[in-house]
Amino acid sequence: MTTSIIEPAKSGRSKCGGCRKKIEKGELRFGEYNDRYESYRWYHLVCGAALDAKDFVEAVEEFEGDVGDVDAILEEAKNVGKGTKTPRVEPAPSARASCAACGEKIEPKGVLRGVLYYEVDVDNWRKGNTHVGCMAELSDLDRDDLIDQILENSLIDDEQREEVIAEI
Ligand SMILES: [Zn+2]
Ligand SMILES: [Zn+2]
Repeated sequence: MTTSIIEPAKSGRSKCGGCRKKIEKGELRFGEYNDRYESYRWYHLVCGAALDAKDFVEAVEEFEGDVGDVDAILEEAKNVGKGTKTPRVEPAPSARASCAACGEKIEPKGVLRGVLYYEVDVDNWRKGNTHVGCMAELSDLDRDDLIDQILENSLIDDEQREEVIAEI
């Protein structure tokens, strides 16, 4: 088995296997070797650290050059994927949306709202917005799991975490 490596990108053509954005030529990239395809899949350093922190640290140890502040990269990697997964909470971008659970408006703009998939019919799932306090009504998770997942998936500060726990 060939291990993962870090190297400067040889061209500007590779796309990150994590965030799908371009990796600039010369930028350090993390390569995860795929035995099946006998080739590397490339990632930005942060995206690679998010994929597999242990492999990433091993690749850093093998790399002859300077990758910068590894602890900072690992710390940043913890936030990769947050703000896109569901269920989560986020500030409402407008005051126009109605709650998928109770039908009332979610307002004012900027208030935390829930984003989650819910089953509208058998095997028919829809993504919707709700009041934070209405999330449990639509979610198929029990309260503790729902809170755990929201805290895991959301980019929120300590005060907002308290708010989520209090309202659900
Ligand atoms: Zn990336
Ligand atoms: Zn509601």
